[in-house]
Amino acid sequence: MPPGSVILIDHPVVQTKLTELRDYTADHRRFRALLDEIASLMVYEVTRDWPTTPRPVQTPLERTTGRVLARQVTLVPILRAGLGMADGVLRLLPDARLGHFGVYRDEATLTPVSYYKKLPPDVASTEVLLIDPMLATGGSALAAVEFLKAAGVTSMRLVCLVAAPEGIHALHERHPEVPIYCAAVDRQLNEKGYILPGLGDAGDRIFGT
Ligand code: URA
Repeated sequence: MPPGSVILIDHPVVQTKLTELRDYTADHRRFRALLDEIASLMVYEVTRDWPTTPRPVQTPLERTTGRVLARQVTLVPILRAGLGMADGVLRLLPDARLGHFGVYRDEATLTPVSYYKKLPPDVASTEVLLIDPMLATGGSALAAVEFLKAAGVTSMRLVCLVAAPEGIHALHERHPEVPIYCAAVDRQLNEKGYILPGLGDAGDRIFGT
């Protein structure tokens, strides 16, 4: 994939659900359900070019050769909002292992402060999907990518729902080889670091806080 790739998942079903998700009247139950569905749908596009390996299989009629994913998968939600996408992704990739990267944004400085990190021991040899619904300033994503690289990960993709141009720029300035998959690139950040038009605080909307 070329450096600086941003893959916009423009599928009509994804866009319909994203529009419903943006609506401020969607309560946490509706928001969670929509986010979960979108995450599942996005997996098709995100994994489209993953390598496969042949595997013999005995059907009820004869022996043939199918194809299966060549590499193990690790899902790393950025806490807490990334958890809202985890089940949707796992539904399609049920063998994936799960790491966690906990980070919060210091509201005064808008800088990320990490508070929890855990990865499967063999993460370096797996395909990693880093998930976070919002790519805003890019601070959390940058911290997560640097943590994953330090753990030896060489193949990772960032899967988000809504990306701001500022976050895309910040991530790709330092890590252009990490493709960004998203359902929308919004206009800009406001002075508090929220994406405009965005969907508000994804964590608060998922968890009802
Ligand atoms: N995080 C969110 O949840 N929403 C934004 O708009 C920006 C960062």
